[in-house]
Amino acid sequence: MGRPLMFAHHNNCSRCPVIRAEDVDNDEYYHLLSLRFNIRSARKIALRHEPVLVECDALEAWLRNTRIDREHVGHVPLTAGPGIQVTLPAGAGMPIIDGNHRAARALREKRNFYVYVLDEPETLELLRRSMGNSMADHFWLRLAESKPHPADI
Ligand SMILES: [Zn+2]
Repeated sequence: MGRPLMFAHHNNCSRCPVIRAEDVDNDEYYHLLSLRFNIRSARKIALRHEPVLVECDALEAWLRNTRIDREHVGHVPLTAGPGIQVTLPAGAGMPIIDGNHRAARALREKRNFYVYVLDEPETLELLRRSMGNSMADHFWLRLAESKPHPADI
């Protein structure tokens, strides 16, 4: 018996979990420019923190520049818990790497949205776990030396 080439997703939506996901090794990643964040690792680090409320205007501004699948917004349960926000060096930004669709739904329904905020050392630790030490250190150093907009990494 071969494995099927395509997996069926809940809601027939590619962003929704795979049906019978326990059979599949599907570590989830968030990609931002050259950076790669492993969401499973991020959730482990996030447990060190209490969730904090994201300010509505900041969230709206962030989501305007984030790829959001409008149909999927309706699939995410509001009970799915806080998202995760990381801290890049040199004021390069605080992207939300987990929970963007939950955030979009919360915003749409005028509800509060909370995130766990990883500080700079934790963000570097997460990148090292996600990309390996040398790649993580390389891009981190470039960010640290860059001006506030990281568009050139
Ligand atoms: Zn979906």
